[in-house]
Order: sequence, then C-alpha cells, then structure tokens
Amino acid sequence: MRDVLTLVIATKNTGKLIEIAALLKNYPVNLKSLSDFGPIPSVEEDGATFDDNAYKKAAFTARVLGLPALADDSGLVVPALGGGPGILSARYGGDSLTDAQRCDLLLQNLRGKNDRQASFSCVISIATPTGVALTYEARCEGLIAESASGINGFGYDPIFYYPPLNKTFAELTSQEKSQISHRGKALKELLAEFDNVLLWLQQQMPVLEKFPCHGSVTC
Ligand code: IMP
Repeated sequence: MRDVLTLVIATKNTGKLIEIAALLKNYPVNLKSLSDFGPIPSVEEDGATFDDNAYKKAAFTARVLGLPALADDSGLVVPALGGGPGILSARYGGDSLTDAQRCDLLLQNLRGKNDRQASFSCVISIATPTGVALTYEARCEGLIAESASGINGFGYDPIFYYPPLNKTFAELTSQEKSQISHRGKALKELLAEFDNVLLWLQQQMPVLEKFPCHGSVTC
C-alpha cells in the first residue's frame, strides 16, 4: 500500500493557503505549505498568461522539493485598458503602491471611458516533479465601480462590482465571495474530481528505488 500523498501548496499568501486547506481538509492528503521547508529560491512570474505563471510556480516547486505542488495565478482583466492589469495585477503602477493606491490608479485610468466591464481570472495548476500538470481555470464577470466601496477582501475587491449581488467584492463576506469568485469556482472544479486527482498524482510520482545496505555503510 502507498503512503498518504503529500501536496505542497505553493503560495506565500496566507489567505489563499487557509482557503485551500479548508476545502481539502477531508481528503486523504498531507498538505504542506512553503513555510514547512527551508528557504527555496522564488520563481519569476514572467509568463505571458495566468496559465503560464501558475504552471511555472507549481512545476518549479514540485521539481525543487520532489513533491507534487499546487499553485494558482490570478488577476483582473479590464478590456477598456487593453486587457490590463492582467498578469501584472499585483504590480500595477509599481511595486511600492498599496492595494488602495492601485484601485485609485485603475479608477483614474478608466475615467471618461464608458466600457467598465471587467473580469477576475484564476488558473490553478497541479504539477508533479516530472513536469506533467493538471489545470483548472475560472472567471468571474463584473464591472469596475465608479468609486471604491467596502472593506473586506484584498486587492481590487473594493472596485469590482458584481451585478447579481448588487455589491462590490469588498462588501461581501469571505464565504459569499468564495461562492462566486474566480478562485472559488476554480477550486470547486478541482474539488469535484479531487479523488481522481489524488489517484493521478500517485500514478505520476516516480517510485524511488530502494538500495540494500551492505558492509560498513550506515543506512
Ligand atoms: P496572485 O495570483 O497572487 O499573483 O495575485 C495577483 C493579483 O491579482 C493580486 O495581488 C490582486 O491584486 C489581484 N487579485 C487576484 N485575485 C483577487 C481577488 O480575489 N480580489 C482582488 N484582487 C485580486
């Protein structure tokens, strides 16, 4: 019989980690976070798509640690801004801006534009040390509000207006948000087949050869 599989959640974002761990808590999987290991080099998120970046993070972590790893990449896409901030969402306007300043900048850049459509995208990648991976992707459609509203969540939540609930994401509780958010939906897709994912991961993991110990070598 094989041991319980270990899966590394490759994120430094505690909010994401807690959300993912809560959803997977009833499955026979030993979850680890990056902080369970010594310092490992960080991977550059320089892919052209959310998919590229999610895969890069998952595959790099899996290779470095020799364990299956799950990573996600997400961001806000605004067609009137040419698809921006997109994969640059975390760094929009430069590294030194706060979330609130990034929201203000986006509102300024949209001033005078009638098209306020926007969507959040999330890609989850689960990779093994050999490089093969599974991908889950989801989007949430909304509008950019005229001004920021609400105090919950993070990032662009105060300016992302979700018409079906007549609220911005920052006016929703975290439970309400995860029912409809890009990340919540991608995680739900993953959960729907998580038993099969575990099986697949077990089949993909290289089986380590056992060497007999001889002579004076201490094993
Ligand atoms: P990453 O997936 O951690 O690289 O996040 C990319 C950036 O997209 C975050 O820093 C936020 O600015 C933005 N973002 C992603 N998901 C959300 C969300 O659910 N709400 C608000 N902003 C988000």
